[in-house]
Amino acid sequence: MDNFKTLKAKLNTQGYRLTPQRQLIFEIFQTLPTGNHLNAESVHLLLFERGEVMSLSTVYRNLKIMANIGIIREVELAQAQKHYEPKTISIHHHHIVCIQCHQIIEFENKSIIQQGLKQVETMGLQLIDCKFTLQTICPEALQRGCPTISSNWVCPRFLKTDKPKSSNHQQLH
Ligand SMILES: [Zn+2]
Ligand SMILES: [Zn+2]
Repeated sequence: MDNFKTLKAKLNTQGYRLTPQRQLIFEIFQTLPTGNHLNAESVHLLLFERGEVMSLSTVYRNLKIMANIGIIREVELAQAQKHYEPKTISIHHHHIVCIQCHQIIEFENKSIIQQGLKQVETMGLQLIDCKFTLQTICPEALQRGCPTISSNWVCPRFLKTDKPKSSNHQQLH
């Protein structure tokens, strides 16, 4: 329950209350398997599966607030929608995404931040976070003739691996 105390304290210092909705969203991220990234729709769906009814706009609003306060981390991936991951992950955690199938490969690299930090420090700024995303095309999509490829094509990699729910969420509809 210590986690809820931290959550409450972080919200309160920024003038927000710990509402049941924020607590539920926080729980989703606490139990999220490593390597998963959620957008507002997938958070909405996971809440629904737990029997919690929350409007999509409430989810959007609270994700934004929780990211601003530093409870979760907002990341730009291949899709236009924002994705979120737990804030507990390392600042050296970065992403490689395929622009065709939206798969996400995570990697750690310390030299990226070391370069950035030099620049930031000489300017007297305080570093908050470092987000680095490499946009790529996977070999499977290249082989299929990307970029002239049907939009409902599903990368064979998804068929044999256990995919996080959110990343190819859009393609399932
Ligand atoms: Zn791909
Ligand atoms: Zn990540």
